[in-house]
Amino acid sequence: MIAKQLISRGIKDDKVLNAFRKVPRHIFVRPEDDEYAYVDGPLPIGYGQTISQPFIVALMTEALEIQKTDRIMEIGTGSGYQTAILAQLAHQVYSVEKVPELAEAAELKLKSLGYDNVFIKVGDGTKGWKQNFPYDAIMVTAASPQIPPSLWEQLASKGRMVIPVGDRFFQNLLQLKKTVQGEKIKKSLGECRFVPLLGEEGWDF
Ligand code: SAH
Repeated sequence: MIAKQLISRGIKDDKVLNAFRKVPRHIFVRPEDDEYAYVDGPLPIGYGQTISQPFIVALMTEALEIQKTDRIMEIGTGSGYQTAILAQLAHQVYSVEKVPELAEAAELKLKSLGYDNVFIKVGDGTKGWKQNFPYDAIMVTAASPQIPPSLWEQLASKGRMVIPVGDRFFQNLLQLKKTVQGEKIKKSLGECRFVPLLGEEGWDF
């Protein structure tokens, strides 16, 4: 997976590649999909949601430019796989998931693998997680019609955000950086397709 799907497509950051070497992806897929855990695509995880394609997880992680001291917020815990990758690289990960069953399953898996720097909350992640802001980096793993203002507000100065923005079917994967003046520097990482971010500052149905 690492050589064929990540390095060959341009993922270069050794820290990111090492995180992929350490996290067992098969733990995060449904038992019946065990043999497909390392294939080049997303997989269903129940409740109409998916675990993202490995390459997309790597691309988004690399674009966050994570430092070991960073506090990260993730919106859309889903399977918890991306959460584990982030937890390998950062000081702390605060992850918000709207489906209680997914949040609970992810939390159990992450605990069983020994991650003690991950905090999961059930709720509408479009509003962020106010108690702990600012965050050095924010990753949104569901498709949004806009950059949710609450998330932008909770991003630290010099912080990075990665978010798919577009319509319900196609999105542009954006890397945003917040300057010290609070301005946005935007870069497109390419087209993508995510499940919708449903919530007050996302899609309302
Ligand atoms: N990174 C995850 C992706 C899961 S798919 C993985 O690879 O497993 C996106 C997730 O976002 C789904 O679990 C969905 O339930 C969740 N989601 C959608 N809208 C949300 C919202 N407003 N707040 C929190 N989570 C949300």
